[in-house]
Amino acid sequence: MFQLMPENNVAVRLRGLRKNFGAVEAVAGVDLEIADGEFFAMLGPSGSGKTTVLRMIAGFESPTAGTVELGGRDVTRLAPFERDVNTVFQDYALFPHMTVLNNVEYGLRVKKVARAERRERALEALRSVRLSGFENRRPAQLSGGQRQRVALARALVNRPRVLLLDEPLGALDLKLREEMQVELKEIQRQAGITFLFVTHDQEEALTMSDRVAVFNGGLVEQVGTPAEVYERPATPFVAGFVGTSNLISGEAARTVLGKEGTFSVRPEKLRLVLDLSAPVGDEEHSATGTVAEVVYAGAATRFVVDLDAGGRLIVLQQNLEVSSMDVTGLRGGRVRLAWNRRHEFAIAS
Ligand code: ADP
Ligand code: MG
Repeated sequence: MFQLMPENNVAVRLRGLRKNFGAVEAVAGVDLEIADGEFFAMLGPSGSGKTTVLRMIAGFESPTAGTVELGGRDVTRLAPFERDVNTVFQDYALFPHMTVLNNVEYGLRVKKVARAERRERALEALRSVRLSGFENRRPAQLSGGQRQRVALARALVNRPRVLLLDEPLGALDLKLREEMQVELKEIQRQAGITFLFVTHDQEEALTMSDRVAVFNGGLVEQVGTPAEVYERPATPFVAGFVGTSNLISGEAARTVLGKEGTFSVRPEKLRLVLDLSAPVGDEEHSATGTVAEVVYAGAATRFVVDLDAGGRLIVLQQNLEVSSMDVTGLRGGRVRLAWNRRHEFAIAS
């Protein structure tokens, strides 16, 4: 899980990072390496320690134990302004009385960058987030998504090695959020800056990141590409938090799979067979059960099936040739679920 990268490629390295707030152990020993140019997500439920890790990297919080390295240099004892990072907060923290341009220039003014260079860099940062022409507006005259982009420009103008983003899309409605997910990714690619991104939204983490660290109770349970954590969750927690867990264990594992242990199959990998006597493929496992619930959702339908062998599985089927009338009629019906064996995997329990 903890792999070493060539020294000059490591943007952020955390070693044995811990943080206690009184009796609360917010971060309980985190080791992570984030490569230069990576779009890296810290994903986990509320209270799992993500923000505290981010604040320790930024220097707003000092660790109880462990170290923070940026670009191979130990910065654990350095003040925030001495670190080559910038943070974008969920509430944007823009100055309401300043124009967009002045908001973006502010950090450079503090650093006493000359006026002409300041202007040039601020305009370039605004261009990179596609806000040219908005220089003289005030934050109140912008939409939520535009404000978010000003906050981004204000961080990018400093050309940090690492940009820290704490739930940056949390305040946006779903549609805008989805648009900004795509845009943020493009901006990151163009700027070539390492993005370290905190979210509790598994879909957001999976769609945007190069790699994901899944947090639980102040610890990292798994680090991997989106496909790895989704297709091969290392623990029951990851299986349940990243997607639907769909566990087959105990008696059901013995009867249906012929083996001991706990196994998971993702909902979209299950095939719903209405003719119970129809043969299943050689490479398939199958189990019979009763449909307990049907949730029609336009493009797809979600079936909850109670297995005769015990336990319940969720099945996601695309609505290719059916209407909601057809699928809801299946509630209470007898079905067989079949899946290719290579889609069932053991997880540590
Ligand atoms: P996340 O960002 O994953 O929601 P946090 O890092 O904010 O989690 O919090 C982790 C834990 O530490 C929570 O139990 C939270 O209540 C606690 N915590 C965070 N900051 C403080 C603080 N300043 N004082 C006391 N407890 C804190
Ligand atoms: Mg948080």
